[in-house]
Amino acid sequence: MFKVHPIAILNDNYVWTIIHNYNTVIVDPGTSEEVIEFHEKNNLHPTAILITHHHNDHVGGLSKLIETYNVSVYSPQNKKFKFDFMPVKENDEIKLFKNTLTLKVAEVPGHTLDHIIYFGDGMLFCGDTLFSFGCGRVFEGSFEQMFSSLEKLKKLDRNYNVYCTHEYTLDNLKFLIDYFEDNETFKKIYKKLSQRSITLPSKLKDELELNPFLNSNFEEFKQLRIAKNQY
Ligand SMILES: [Zn+2]
Repeated sequence: MFKVHPIAILNDNYVWTIIHNYNTVIVDPGTSEEVIEFHEKNNLHPTAILITHHHNDHVGGLSKLIETYNVSVYSPQNKKFKFDFMPVKENDEIKLFKNTLTLKVAEVPGHTLDHIIYFGDGMLFCGDTLFSFGCGRVFEGSFEQMFSSLEKLKKLDRNYNVYCTHEYTLDNLKFLIDYFEDNETFKKIYKKLSQRSITLPSKLKDELELNPFLNSNFEEFKQLRIAKNQY
C-alpha cells in the first residue's frame, strides 16, 4: 500500500519518501532541490515531513520545502529550530495520509541528544542511529546512551525494512571483513551488495543476526562465525 522511494542527495544521503496515492511524506530532507524536482516530475504532493535529528544534512531543505508546500512538520523538540513544527516524543503516534498510516516515535539519544526514530507498517526510519552493518557515530550522547538506544531498536518488529539515511553499507562491510579476518559471509554479502546501485533498505532481522553493533556479546557473535549463508 505504501511505496518508499529514496531521493539521493549530497554525497551519500537518502531522503526517504513514503508515497500513497500521489501524496507523500518526506523523511529528513537535507536539501530541497532534488526533493522538489522528484515531486514535480512524478506529480506528487507532499503532505508531511518527518525529522529525526537536527543535523543539517537532515533539515537543510526544510525552510524551502515549507515555503513551497503546505506540509505538517514533525520533529524532536529542539530550541535551535527556527521553523514551525509539531514536537514529538517517546511513544507518540503520528497519523499520516489522513489516518491511513500510523507511525510511532521512540527517543534514541546517542548520535545526537535529540535523535528520534519513526516506525510502523513494516517501516523503520532510523536516521543516523542504525546503519546497515554499522551504527551512527556518537557525537552528543554517551556510549551508554547509544547502547541503550540500539537495545531499544532490537525490540522492534524483526520484519521491518530499515531505512537509514546514509549509504554506508559497503564501507561498513569492508571494516567487518577486515575485523573478522577475511570472513567469508561478509565477503559474500559485500560482493552481492556491491552490484546494486543502492543497498537499502535492509531488513531488521538481518541486522539483528549480522550487525555486530546489535550483538553486544561479541565473543558469542565471533563464535557464531557468522558462517550462515541465509543473507
Ligand atoms: Zn546526523
